Amino acid sequence: MVDLQSQYLKIKLEIDSAIQSVIDSTAFIKGRDVQLFETELAEFTGAKHVIACGNGTDALQIALMALGLKPGDEVITSTFTFIATAEAIALLGLIPVFVDANPDTFNIDVSQIRRKITSKTKAIIPVHLYGQCADMEEIMNIADEFNLFVIEDTAQAIGTDFTFGDGTKKQAGTVGNIGTTSFFPSKNLGCFGDGGALFTNDDELALKMRAIINHGSKITYYHSEIGVNSRLDTLQAVVLRIKLKYLKEYISARQKVAEYYNSAFQHENRIITPFINPNSEHTYHQYTLKIADIDRDTVQKQLDENGIPSKIYYPVPIHLQEAYAKYGYRKGDFPIAEKLSETVLSLPIHTEMDEEQLRYITSNMKEIVNGK
Ligand SMILES: *Cc1c(COP(=O)(O)O)cnc(C)c1O
Repeated sequence: MVDLQSQYLKIKLEIDSAIQSVIDSTAFIKGRDVQLFETELAEFTGAKHVIACGNGTDALQIALMALGLKPGDEVITSTFTFIATAEAIALLGLIPVFVDANPDTFNIDVSQIRRKITSKTKAIIPVHLYGQCADMEEIMNIADEFNLFVIEDTAQAIGTDFTFGDGTKKQAGTVGNIGTTSFFPSKNLGCFGDGGALFTNDDELALKMRAIINHGSKITYYHSEIGVNSRLDTLQAVVLRIKLKYLKEYISARQKVAEYYNSAFQHENRIITPFINPNSEHTYHQYTLKIADIDRDTVQKQLDENGIPSKIYYPVPIHLQEAYAKYGYRKGDFPIAEKLSETVLSLPIHTEMDEEQLRYITSNMKEIVNGK
């Protein structure tokens, strides 16, 4: 699905010497490169503040902590996402309130958010799934109207531009009160282990989050709030500083792969290619198709027999996960997400794909869906 080895080999000299310099300095925690990376990522995204942390799941939890939400408060999010989004909500004793997905974009269906709002609702967490932004314009309108916080889960969409109705563009993660992201190795900007970050334009929230990631401390051994230990290692920061320089190239390499797939599949009735959203760029963290009129799992099995990896993101929507049964949802509550979980299929997409691989994958895929 990814080829991190080839990507590394292209920048090996740079990476190896940067890693060696951290080892030589022994500044493994809170080294200068962490700050430098934060500044560079702030410049790249347009966020006023970037606070690096341990991983994307922690980032979500830290964001919710910083907003001062209390157990029992309700947080609206999509049921069709990676588990981390709901996990952070549930861990803090907050109540995840799920909303179905939009069948075209796979993102939260904004037309269904309003009817989920109660007097306990405090926040909305849209997820920019697969590399395409949720409808941030409508989400911000709803948030303004009902006085809700917005945390954007940007783990899959770093560097993705959202265009507002008036033509203004902003990057994913910089529109709501807080944006969170992940540098898990396979993400579009991935490090060599776990890593994450928080974005905000709010000075006070930035200070608070910076304290929370470091045991709730602004001054060493003085603790103004209850925090966590979730810092980005200096070793990861040097890797990320280098890879950030290439992020634009990495994104356009992914977009080229997607274009190849899109044109190869354009006349295939059983393959529905990703929706092109006029308001959002697509940075293709995943290239996710919908399979129509034919069993998706059979297609996947046949791809596998031909040596072609593929993945299902995600086979079970969160409202049907065992651990989330206590929130009282049932099968049938979110028909779109449930249908998507049975029909989506993600093909390999990464920065190192060549035309031969793409030709092999697309020709096999076409034969398989047409039963040849
Ligand atoms: C990867 C991911 C996360 C979690 O990131 P980690 O760094 O693995 O903790 C959260 N949300 C979404 C949508 C993700 O894809």
